[in-house]
Formats: sequence, C-alpha cells, structure tokens
Amino acid sequence: MINLILFGPPGSGKGTQAAKLVEQFQLIHISTGDLFRYEMSHNTPLGEQAKAYMAKGELVPDSVTIGMLRNKVESHPDAAGFIFDGFPRTIPQAQALDELLEEKGTRVTGLFALHVDDEEIVQRIKLRGLSSGRADDNNESIIRNRINVYKNETSPVFDYYAEQGKSQSINGIGEIEEIFERLSEAIAQLH
Ligand code: AMP
Repeated sequence: MINLILFGPPGSGKGTQAAKLVEQFQLIHISTGDLFRYEMSHNTPLGEQAKAYMAKGELVPDSVTIGMLRNKVESHPDAAGFIFDGFPRTIPQAQALDELLEEKGTRVTGLFALHVDDEEIVQRIKLRGLSSGRADDNNESIIRNRINVYKNETSPVFDYYAEQGKSQSINGIGEIEEIFERLSEAIAQLH
C-alpha cells in the first residue's frame, strides 16, 4: 500500500494536487475538510458538531475528527492506498493514523508539505472564495486565523514524521503542472 499525506497550510494546493495524484496512482483521496462539509450540508449530527469550529477557522476536536477518519478508511478495505489531505492536523491525529494503519498492516509512506508564503495564501483563498461559496474562504480574519492554527497546532506534525524520516518539503509556488511534477518526482523516489 502507498499512504501519502499531503500537507501544507490552507490554500497551498493540497486538494488540487490530491485530485491529480489520485488519477496517477489509483489511491483513495480522503479530505477531512470535504467530509465535514458533506456532513454539514446534510445537517447530520457530525456536521452539527463541526460547524462552529469550521466557521471560526478552528480545528474540530480530535475525538470527532479521528472517529470520522477511521470510519472512512475502514469503508475502503480493498484500497491500494490513501492520500490524506488536511489530516492529520495535530500530533494525536498523527498517532491515531499510525495506529490505524498499523492495524491494517501498513504505514504512512511519506508526507509532502507544500510551501507557500502567507500573502500568496490569502490571495489564493480569497480567489477560491469567489467560487467555493465557503464562508471560511470569504473573510480575511478567518483566513488569517486558519493560517495561525496551521502554524501553531498543525506544523508539529511535519516534525513528527520527520523523526520517522518521512517528511519532505515541496515548493508550492508555480503552475499546477509544475508542482505536480515536483510531487510526482518526490513520490517516485519512495519506491
Ligand atoms: P480544509 O478544507 O482542509 O481547509 O478544512 C476546513 C476546516 O475543516 C478547517 O478549518 C477545520 O475547521 C476543519 N478540519 C478539516 N480537517 C480537520 C482536521 N484534520 N482536524 C480538525 N479540523 C479539521
């Protein structure tokens, strides 16, 4: 199995690149942000739990997020592997992912962090907000809060996997195809 983590701040291109990688490697794409938005749009209890946190750009509590992720992974018992996008965002989430994959006799293959500077991120998310309809993409102070949450709560996950020799940084600035090339080359080196 190949299990990749696409890492990086909001607006760094994780979703765009994940969609392209899925085509190339036939992996299952799991975006916890997309899962929460789906639950919210269907007014489920899980969506209700996530709503207030997402509106503020805060992280949904680990207990909620980890349970949802586990269910999603377990719903694909025959997967050739996964691309995790927007997960793990905390050390407890990373530990839970490692445990879950170990139970399945597999592990995280590599983590790829897309690097994009803050001002570029704000511009990209505002642009995305014009078509995404996401409330958290349409308010600059929420966008900046999401960037701070990434720096304070999520970036330690890079070091956690670096200790396992699995983290790599990728330049996230440039054309979509160019960035995809960089990622594909880095992934090819894993074999
Ligand atoms: P995203 O689509 O990845 O930018 O996520 C949008 C929002 O969903 C985040 O700002 C969080 O409120 C919530 N969220 C997504 N993934 C996670 C996660 N792994 N842990 C906690 N909250 C999350």
